[in-house]
Amino acid sequence: MKVFLRSFGCQMNKLDTNLVANSFLQAGFEFTEEIGEADAVLINTCSVRNHAEERVLSLLGHLKHIKKTRPQIVVAVFGCMAQRLKEDLLSHEAVNIVCGPLQIPELVSLVSKAIEKNTKLTAVSNDIRHKSLPEDSDRLDDFEYSYDSAEDNLPAQAYVRVMRGCDKFCSYCVVPYVRGPEASREPAKIIAQIKKLADSGIKQVTLLGQTVNSYRYDNFTFADLLYEVSKINSIEWIKFVTCYPKNFDERIFKAMVDLPTVCRYLHIPAQSGSDKILKAMNRGYTCSQYLEIIDKAREIVPDIAVAGDFIVGFPGETDEDFQKTIELVEKAQYKNCYIFKYSPRPGTRADDKLADDVPMEVKKQRNIELLAVQEKISAELNKSFIGKTVKVLVEGASKKAHLDKADKENVSQLIGRTAGDYIVVFDGSENLAGQFVNVNITKASALTLFGQIN
Ligand code: SF4
Repeated sequence: MKVFLRSFGCQMNKLDTNLVANSFLQAGFEFTEEIGEADAVLINTCSVRNHAEERVLSLLGHLKHIKKTRPQIVVAVFGCMAQRLKEDLLSHEAVNIVCGPLQIPELVSLVSKAIEKNTKLTAVSNDIRHKSLPEDSDRLDDFEYSYDSAEDNLPAQAYVRVMRGCDKFCSYCVVPYVRGPEASREPAKIIAQIKKLADSGIKQVTLLGQTVNSYRYDNFTFADLLYEVSKINSIEWIKFVTCYPKNFDERIFKAMVDLPTVCRYLHIPAQSGSDKILKAMNRGYTCSQYLEIIDKAREIVPDIAVAGDFIVGFPGETDEDFQKTIELVEKAQYKNCYIFKYSPRPGTRADDKLADDVPMEVKKQRNIELLAVQEKISAELNKSFIGKTVKVLVEGASKKAHLDKADKENVSQLIGRTAGDYIVVFDGSENLAGQFVNVNITKASALTLFGQIN
């Protein structure tokens, strides 16, 4: 049986996709890149932005046509959009299976059943905000333990979920309604999983949570977890995403200083520089409280690399509010920023209560303007690396050609990242993928450092 797999969305989704792919491989399925020869099509979906859902619907439209000539093909939609739309999605002509993010351990058996009986099946949480039963958490933990591995195309690197769900209810965000309540995994299970990954050759783990710094299992905190993970031999770099800028435990920064394996990288979304907009977003902090966290981080870890996220064009965002966001970006001196145009998500408080009153043209303009501000900052920061040597974990051959490509045969242009998550491009042999190398930086753009292996 052949399976075609597509994935949309964040790192949490990439991790789920990887687990699902391994579960199908171990069940004897093969993977194909040709949708036309697949017996089953699996689509991992994202609901965070409207655009991600539109792409899934367009793929389903394509599959509807394919099914006219190959009606036996089984299409399974899983992840956040499946949980959000439930039966509505099952009524789509192309869809056979709708499976929520908490039901992914059942996917192999759902697909096998649908192939055998050519039926429609659904497995979603009826009350997603209901706290999981211990047996459900155990089932998900066992699934993670059994099927984790290096990330696709990222040798020696793995994502490890440390918590599920979210309880923050930011007014624009659909995650609490599709991934359920916040639940931290038992430390012993996380450690056992990372030890297993380390034994299989993993050198970098990225600990994942929607608000990873809120991790807490009884009295065991996220900082405690960092100290425990750092004891695992052969895990050389520990990264974590994403942090929530409230009740930030300073011990996390102290761990970065104490423990050489904890990377000095902090991804901490601000979303807006205007207190009025932050309040409407229900973020629970002010701009100055946010900056205090960054100041504290830099006081304890002077060379920490900080990345941010912003939403532009949130309901009610005036030019003055946007100006405050620009000022925050200038003050924060991020290494890079992810900037999104607000799009209302059905079922969220912002969609219910606030008019999407910033015209798309204005959203686009603000996006461009903020990106330009950030690019200037990134270019300056990146320039300061010229002449220095950085340690890089090699990801593999760069997919796109960059500046300075050597024309030597047998030498590829490689891409990798530093502990601070800076992207580095350099020439080298592809068998360096998954290894650490030292690179002398000779050139820098706003997005990339360029150099030569030492
Ligand atoms: S913290 Fe806010 S933005 Fe992040 S997942 Fe939770 S509700 Fe969504």
